[in-house]
Amino acid sequence: APFIRFEGVRKEYADGTVAVPGLDLDVREHELLTLVGPSGSGKSTLLRMVNRLVEPSAGRVLLDGRDVGDQDPVQLRRGIGYVIQDVGLFPHRTVAQNVATVPRLLRWEPARARNRVAELLELVGLDPAVHGRRYPHELSGGQRQRVGVARALATKPQVMLMDEPFGAVDPEGRRALQSEFRQIHDDLGTTVVLVTHDIDEAVTLGDRVAVLRQGGHLEQVATPVTLLTR
Ligand code: ADP
Ligand code: ADP
Repeated sequence: APFIRFEGVRKEYADGTVAVPGLDLDVREHELLTLVGPSGSGKSTLLRMVNRLVEPSAGRVLLDGRDVGDQDPVQLRRGIGYVIQDVGLFPHRTVAQNVATVPRLLRWEPARARNRVAELLELVGLDPAVHGRRYPHELSGGQRQRVGVARALATKPQVMLMDEPFGAVDPEGRRALQSEFRQIHDDLGTTVVLVTHDIDEAVTLGDRVAVLRQGGHLEQVATPVTLLTR
């Protein structure tokens, strides 16, 4: 069953730029769909329609059968993990405090938040006792991305939106992050849409790959095997 459905979505920005010309795309429950295309092909625009950071000019996005346009954006975003390239960690808060951001907003019991933070840091390969107390600038780029993933997973979202999540990481670190993230996805079964301009990353990570061309045209949706053997 489709978990996210883009129905005839179009985005024309105020200056007249048509980022997405009208597109249909289904994302299945539990799958990791990669969205690949050159810079400016509308990937971020499409992704941000799901959590309502961008409102479509026409068409609609359904999440689990419900039009996101009918939902309170704050409530909606609490159920959706969002990871971007430079993560946007709060620089003056420790790693653990960053990961605890949403649990705190939701006023979880301190012990519950603390346990969850420790569990999440371990999940992404960081030591709560060591890395949890550090500040973002005391970590490597790859470690910061891990913290971003941990923070996005804090409330066990059903959906994760990831925009070039490993883009700022060096190639070796990126390989490790990719395979670890693939493992985390397989264990948790979260529905993931991951945007990248890197076709290797798209094919390595995706259960299916959606290929966008300039102008936001959806060229094809294929399994990695079909793409590789063409
Ligand atoms: P991608 O993520 O594939 O790089 P984007 O979705 O960021 O593509 O952008 C698609 C097109 O929309 C580009 O031509 C970009 O310049 C344009 N665009 C993105 N955001 C805005 C905006 N806020 N106002 C005007 N044009 C925008
Ligand atoms: P503040 O000073 O903003 O109240 P706290 O130091 O109380 O921040 O930490 C906020 C949250 O971060 C805590 O409720 C806890 O969930 C989490 N946290 C802080 N330090 C750790 C740690 N070492 N291990 C696990 N979780 C932590």
